[in-house]
Amino acid sequence: MPGYNHLYIPGPTNIPEEVRMAMNVSMQDMRAPDFPDFTKPLFAKVQNVFRNTTGRVFLYPSSGTGAWEAAIQNTLCPGDKVLMSRFGQFSHLWVDMAQRLGLDVEVFDCEWGEGVPVEKYAERLKADTGHEIKAVFATHNETATGVTSDIKGVRAALDAANHPALFMVDGVSSIGSIEFDQDAWGVDCAVSGSQKGFMLPAGLGILSVSKWALDAHKRSEFPRTFFSFEDMIATNDQGYFPYTPATQLLKGLDVACDMIHAEGIENIWARHNRLASGVRAAVDAWGLNLCAKEPKWHSDTVSAILVPEDVDARQVISRAYTAYNTSLGSGLTQVMGKVFRIGHLGWMNEGMVMTALSVAEMAMIDTGMKIQAGSGVGAAIRHFTETPVVAAAKAA
Ligand SMILES: *Cc1c(COP(=O)(O)O)cnc(C)c1O
Repeated sequence: MPGYNHLYIPGPTNIPEEVRMAMNVSMQDMRAPDFPDFTKPLFAKVQNVFRNTTGRVFLYPSSGTGAWEAAIQNTLCPGDKVLMSRFGQFSHLWVDMAQRLGLDVEVFDCEWGEGVPVEKYAERLKADTGHEIKAVFATHNETATGVTSDIKGVRAALDAANHPALFMVDGVSSIGSIEFDQDAWGVDCAVSGSQKGFMLPAGLGILSVSKWALDAHKRSEFPRTFFSFEDMIATNDQGYFPYTPATQLLKGLDVACDMIHAEGIENIWARHNRLASGVRAAVDAWGLNLCAKEPKWHSDTVSAILVPEDVDARQVISRAYTAYNTSLGSGLTQVMGKVFRIGHLGWMNEGMVMTALSVAEMAMIDTGMKIQAGSGVGAAIRHFTETPVVAAAKAA
């Protein structure tokens, strides 16, 4: 069908024209003497987005999963005891990786729709007076269920127990979109990827590490080559890479970071909250529930919307795609058929959110759900017209 295809999956997200154009450059020599003039400021810009002033960032030509692996291999030893929690497909996959890499994983299994069990972490850390636990893991934003966890709370639990464990956070679908403060929250390894809040195609694993993670690296005993911090540091310090960098993606990343800084990271967080609140107003008005079980867990980057038990959410997603040129996010594994997701992160505004809600509403009506036409859309319109526009969005 003519017209745009609309993308509301929670990654890859929409790419700003400026970023797309910045990547449309001819290949360049990654060993040229002026290449560091581009890369060195870029490292600093990326580090800024994480609010990391003590450590450094690594840019791997991989997806986010590579940065997960890099974090583990470079800071821990095989057999180390680590504390993790699982409440969705992404937190599940990180646990699976840690187990397969040979860590001794203690997992808190929570219901899908809940978040990191901060109280249980606190108790467990307090009881671990011998400091057997070497790292604590948390998935900041569980993209499968639309759940945001209290990362600051996990840091408080570590501090209350005076526990020296490393703190590893998956921020793939949060960093650059919702509040994240690596310094203030004492996050040692913050994992991200290019195709979510950074508004780029997939292809970069972005890992931001603290100086404590760099210290831990010296004692770490995993074999590693591709993701090796030492190889990266030796070349990055000169402005180069140990292997061929994804230059076009780096060009795009440079512009994306400039856009993030121009809008202001706090304005971006406020914009995401405003957009997500509009989506939540629509979900309420439809008489539906989010997968996230409590408001404290509501994600400002992705909403997973539960459909009634006699409905297969895959039909809604399929109808939106075939009839209305619109991609909604699907339910993964445990919640397949039970939810559809709206990704509202990255390069996103009110008009785009209204398109997503209109299409979701049409697709639900088409598939026979009892939804009053205009109910969700009307609620979102009221939300957007009755609450103040975020300052930076106004300026832009
Ligand atoms: C997308 C995502 C990942 C995986 O990233 P890939 O780039 O697909 O490897 C990991 N964690 C979370 C929370 C994600 O949303």
